[in-house]
Amino acid sequence: MLEARGATKRYGDVVALDGVNLKPAPGRTTVLIGPSGCGKSTLLRAFIGLVRLDDGGIHFDGEVLTPETARPVRRRVGYVIQSGGLFPHLTARRNVTLAADYFHSFSPGPRVDELCALVRLDASMLDRYPAELSGGQRQRVGLMRALMLDPEVLLLDEPLGALDPLVRSELQTDLRDIFRQVGKTVVMVTHDLAEAAHFADHLVLMRDGKIEQQGRLKELTDQPASDFVREFVTAQRKLHSTEAAG
Ligand code: ADP
Repeated sequence: MLEARGATKRYGDVVALDGVNLKPAPGRTTVLIGPSGCGKSTLLRAFIGLVRLDDGGIHFDGEVLTPETARPVRRRVGYVIQSGGLFPHLTARRNVTLAADYFHSFSPGPRVDELCALVRLDASMLDRYPAELSGGQRQRVGLMRALMLDPEVLLLDEPLGALDPLVRSELQTDLRDIFRQVGKTVVMVTHDLAEAAHFADHLVLMRDGKIEQQGRLKELTDQPASDFVREFVTAQRKLHSTEAAG
């Protein structure tokens, strides 16, 4: 359905994506992980047609995606960013229903109720503005917005990155349940291996715009393809054991 073929993107001298081939499995959760600046967000943005590639392409059901051809595809792809990306001058409800109005698709009422139940948000919160919601509530609204048009694909860029640890852990559990319920093709970016392991059916470890290794967490830990993979996995484990001890 969704596929990167030889995706290459340069910003001046920086090669953000260097010939990436990736086909996220339909109905499963693929997690992009790697150090800051390795190209995770650029790949995710390319998947929704927000990045003009220098070489290669993103294919969606056989069509090549460009910023020009992306509009009809966008209603089939939901996108959530770290801060929720909500419009501050609109109520949560308007944020959620905006896309339905834009695409003139349907009366959003029943769908909004359904999504409140799915993301476990009290419907009264929808009359508030984003600034009147907690970080966790904002992310739940961001998720509702992304799911409003019942997209086939859900892209999430560090969706829990801005949250404090308790809220983060609660939303991790809820999000995983939601992914299982909706059965969508999910591609998520995180820099945290424990979080990646929590969500991923398939892990993709990137470095310098390339895929260094992909597979299940156990494959990365037990059969690292390079010293980089071994060091990345070990460093993250140390970080978590230090956090747990502290
Ligand atoms: P990650 O998400 O893994 O942290 P990014 O995909 O955001 O990495 O960035 C990959 C590289 O491309 C980085 O070196 C970043 O500075 C650069 N980059 C990303 N977007 C832009 C942009 N719009 N302009 C210039 N450089 C960019």
